[in-house]
Amino acid sequence: MKITTSKRFISCIVLTTLSLFLFSSSKIDEKDKNLSTGGNKIRTIVIDAGHGGEDGSTHGSISKEKNVALEVALKLGKAIEERLPDVKVVYTRSTDVFVKLYDRIGIANKAKADLFISIHCNSMPLVWYKGKHIPNPVTRGTETFVSGFSRLDEQDAAVRENASILLEKDYKDNYDGFDPKDPESFIIFSLMKNTFRDQSIKLASLVQDEYVKSGRINRGVQEKSLAVLARAGMPAILTEIGFISNPDEENYINSSEGQAEIVNNLVNAISIYKKQIES
Ligand SMILES: [Zn+2]
Repeated sequence: MKITTSKRFISCIVLTTLSLFLFSSSKIDEKDKNLSTGGNKIRTIVIDAGHGGEDGSTHGSISKEKNVALEVALKLGKAIEERLPDVKVVYTRSTDVFVKLYDRIGIANKAKADLFISIHCNSMPLVWYKGKHIPNPVTRGTETFVSGFSRLDEQDAAVRENASILLEKDYKDNYDGFDPKDPESFIIFSLMKNTFRDQSIKLASLVQDEYVKSGRINRGVQEKSLAVLARAGMPAILTEIGFISNPDEENYINSSEGQAEIVNNLVNAISIYKKQIES
């Protein structure tokens, strides 16, 4: 009963805030576009390897998400420096350490980055198989998220990626009352001003196009209420490079050939995006 009342109260606040947000967003967006992008050049890219340290997040049978994400992130940074020498690369982490979601986007905002790219691996919930719970081994493919609103019943990826916040002792202060255990409160992130929605979707679509060229299954571009993207002052995406819960994809995302292909997909997408923005 208490929960229902509090949820109704939250919904009420959310609707009020949403109205205010929709009413006031266009003017603010135009002003901020001019302030934040610093012209139409891609000079600094922040690469964010998901999770790290005590936050291993998902795992398959041979690897943990945090390690695969770091390997791909470091290779991506190196490839960007080689193929786009006018771009400076900044990492949110380059070793196996825990970094708060709040600080990850803080690093990008402080660096006045022109792009933020977060690297993650996907995983399906556990299924009951031959007398034990195992991660669903069938689902596969790639998907890329941008910050935005998604329905309550489509929050599974957001629940998983936002769960890192539970490891932050001071999360209540840093995320405006967000409760990682209550998907209904995720809307807080959807309501944060997203000046760069269109550019983020554009980059995310280019990334998915590149995955498809390599024969990967396309699960599309989706808007999600993600803490790590919500406060981005630049176009920002979170790309799920494959399902660590699928044995074939786990092998692929751990192999040097697979990682090279993923990195190539990402650099191709970034290069096309950069050319379009700068022309
Ligand atoms: Zn993740």
